Amino acid sequence: MSVFAHPDFDQHEQVVYCHDQASGLKAIIAIHNTRLGPALGGCRMFPYATENDALRDVLRLSRGMTLKSSLAGLPLGGGKAVIIGDPHTGKSPALLQAMGDFVESLGGRYITAADLGTGDAEMQAFAQRTKHVVGASPRATLDGSITSGDPSPSTALGVFVGLQEAVRQRLGRNDLAGLKVALQGVGHVGMGLARRLKAAGAELWVCDIFDANVQRAMDELDVHVVRPQDIYGLDVDVFAPCAMGGILNEQTLEVLRAPVIAGAANNQLATPEIGEMLRQRNQLWAPDYAINAGGIIDVYYQSSGGSAAQIDSHVRGISDTLREIFSRASASDEPTSVIADRLALERIEASGQPEALRLHA
Ligand code: NAD
Repeated sequence: MSVFAHPDFDQHEQVVYCHDQASGLKAIIAIHNTRLGPALGGCRMFPYATENDALRDVLRLSRGMTLKSSLAGLPLGGGKAVIIGDPHTGKSPALLQAMGDFVESLGGRYITAADLGTGDAEMQAFAQRTKHVVGASPRATLDGSITSGDPSPSTALGVFVGLQEAVRQRLGRNDLAGLKVALQGVGHVGMGLARRLKAAGAELWVCDIFDANVQRAMDELDVHVVRPQDIYGLDVDVFAPCAMGGILNEQTLEVLRAPVIAGAANNQLATPEIGEMLRQRNQLWAPDYAINAGGIIDVYYQSSGGSAAQIDSHVRGISDTLREIFSRASASDEPTSVIADRLALERIEASGQPEALRLHA
């Protein structure tokens, strides 16, 4: 399978295939661009059906990280890692250590963090073998309590304030009381978002393919549970995708009516054209890499010794970024996806770097 000819190859600097026969590790690390700084991005673990699915994911996700860090105003480049395997049954200490060794071998060009299918325990295992990992150490929160290095609470906060901004823009309302939200995936971020939405008075419909997470949401919050295939067709105000990418596609758009789409999942648009289709249908889409930047902001401050207050303030600034995207999109009648890409590139160019980064948007 060719990497250079792959449709999702976008001038990536480095793509590393990682294999450890003893532990069974199969993984890919993609460094998209280091112009603004080291490539920081999560390590995902997922049972990809094919190697090409894993390659596609890591190429797209790493490019998204370049754009995300730029939009979030961070001195970081874009990278990502994927481990091919089941996150519930496929982890072993040896496999995680082998992955840590591969991260270390890149000498800091790639810095890893938690993502879908990985969390605190995996970051701590990586940290035994590499210093290029963030989210592995406990740190203080705003109220002074000590929490883990898991950045997903900050991602959930960013999605929450971004969702509020999208609701303000599209539905003209400031409060979320009685707002109907369909939430796809109640994992680390989805559950954090669900808690915040419930506290703000929203009514939630949730789904997940992992029964224990559905049960947790039912036990802790008063939510309606629907089957995963039914989440798109609900008559709700907001669809909040917090599981996998590619879920905004021609099939789901046939039934998806929510006027606001705002969630944490990376790479939500199956193809760039979907952004224009959403615009034509007057469905306001909060670009994923703008709204879900809370995690990268959090890990950046963790790695640079920032305070909880700095993280909180920077993450809440996501609503300002989205307001700018929404207002530019409305003024120029362009999809929010196009505006977000343009804004990210503008910020890279404005950084004073010698050559402008070229990305096919
Ligand atoms: P997670 O693994 O903790 O949770 C994802 C949940 O989605 C799981 O409960 C899983 O069972 C469920 N799921 C998977 N496929 C599903 C499907 N088809 N239908 C319904 N549920 C499904 O992961 P997370 O950390 O909460 O991340 C969620 C999304 O947000 C991912 O796309 C991730 O890349 C993105 N994201 C996460 C962070 C972060 O800080 N964790 C930051 C930015 C973006």
